[in-house]
Amino acid sequence: MDKTELGTWGNAKGSESYLREPKSIDDLRGIVESVGNGGGIARGSGMSYGDQPMNSDGDVIRPLFRKENIEHPNSNGIITVPSSLTFAELLERVVPLGWFMPVVPGTSFVTIGGAIAADVHGKNHYRKSSIASHIKSIALMLADGETIRCSKTEEAAIFWATMGGLGLTGIVIEATIQLSRIRSSKVQVSRNSFGNFSDLFEAMKSQVNRFEYGVAWLDLISKNNFGRGILETANHEISNNPHHEFSYIAKPTLPLPNHLADSFLRRSTVKAYNSLRILSAGRTETIKKTELSAFMHPLDKVRNWNRLYGKSGIIQWQIAVPEVSEHTLFDVIDSIQKAKVPAFLAVLKKLGASNQAPLSFPMEGWTLAVDFPANDKRIYGFLDALDQELVKAGGRIYLAKDARLDPELIPKMYPDLDEWKSIRKNIDPDRRWQSDFSRRLNL
Ligand SMILES: Cc1cc2nc3c(=O)[nH]c(=O)nc-3n(C[C@H](O)[C@H](O)[C@H](O)COP(=O)(O)OP(=O)(O)OC[C@H]3O[C@@H](n4cnc5c(N)ncnc54)[C@H](O)[C@@H]3O)c2cc1C
Repeated sequence: MDKTELGTWGNAKGSESYLREPKSIDDLRGIVESVGNGGGIARGSGMSYGDQPMNSDGDVIRPLFRKENIEHPNSNGIITVPSSLTFAELLERVVPLGWFMPVVPGTSFVTIGGAIAADVHGKNHYRKSSIASHIKSIALMLADGETIRCSKTEEAAIFWATMGGLGLTGIVIEATIQLSRIRSSKVQVSRNSFGNFSDLFEAMKSQVNRFEYGVAWLDLISKNNFGRGILETANHEISNNPHHEFSYIAKPTLPLPNHLADSFLRRSTVKAYNSLRILSAGRTETIKKTELSAFMHPLDKVRNWNRLYGKSGIIQWQIAVPEVSEHTLFDVIDSIQKAKVPAFLAVLKKLGASNQAPLSFPMEGWTLAVDFPANDKRIYGFLDALDQELVKAGGRIYLAKDARLDPELIPKMYPDLDEWKSIRKNIDPDRRWQSDFSRRLNL
């Protein structure tokens, strides 16, 4: 079998591996039983920023289970779906029936399997926690080919180790999910712009709990208006019209066929884009009825928008800081300004309480995600230094997005790491599940 070159969304690294695409559970078992010395790892849509679904010289297993005959949700909103289904496919199916996924990540093109493996959070973590809270059970294929069902009450330790476990406990075959009822497929979005980070943060802190969703976008490029930004909050529309139509269209309208030159996204282009965005948000608050798809996944309209970053790709540095250490957000923003490193996209969200999954990322407080161009050599030392400060503040890096973390810091960021390692050892003593990510971070 020939090797295939595989990449991820961050596009900073590629790797050659044996791509296996089982179409049925029997196929999958055969593949799992034949995994060689290079080990194997599951792959979903490959929308990771780093090397999580890559396994150089080993097997990469991308389930392609049939999606045509998926049942409707039952009258309580419970649905069982194959792990290879994307959020876009799920939402196109369930939104017209008046149901919504309680937690959705910032793009609808990730798979349910990939979302479980990252224990994803959305713009409403402070209200609805992460995806694990809404998963009733999963079917998981273990390293020996056996399939088990796990939930919060059955094989609970394996269930929690799989939430955020980045494919290293087994392959999720299907998931049973609790959906939420919606009365409309629209949200009322209010948008407010702020000239500096302090004002934006104060407004976000005082307002966000009144809304179902909240997210802020920051401009960390502009010299004179560093830290300005836009706060978006939203509630589901409550329509009393019995004939109200629900729709969800996830199709990208604007494809970007080729990578743009690395030089395309420079300070000057990003600066111009940010100014335009702030200008179009206006000075006063605007309230607008918006389609769920446009609010949840605005960037999905441009299919491969990561190509804007050029062939060298991006590093996304996403941190969580506990509520008591919110000053860390100010310190980080200050450091980015002083170091003059190019920070292209910065997004801030509020987080609620953490769950019991040892590798789950969210913790009560805040999360900030910042994109840096991978070909700027200065950012690596700069981020290493920030990571040290982050640890002192009791914060952590989102492993599902990491591409560069010092493995020594993981036990400090994830204090339950040993518990996760011992569960993993029990179910996979020969370490058949491996990835470039797991080797890089000694997991
Ligand atoms: C534009 C963009 C926006 C994003 N926004 C958010 C956000 O708001 N919140 C958030 O939490 N994350 C966000 N993410 C991160 C994204 O949700 C995760 O990286 C997710 O894991 C990607 O899923 P995937 O299907 O592409 O999986 P892949 O990238 O292919 O794999 C990711 C991990 O999942 C494992 N995996 C995949 N399928 C399975 C399976 N069937 N069984 C077991 N393990 C499996 C892989 O081994 C790998 O470790 C965003 C990513 C992008 C590109």
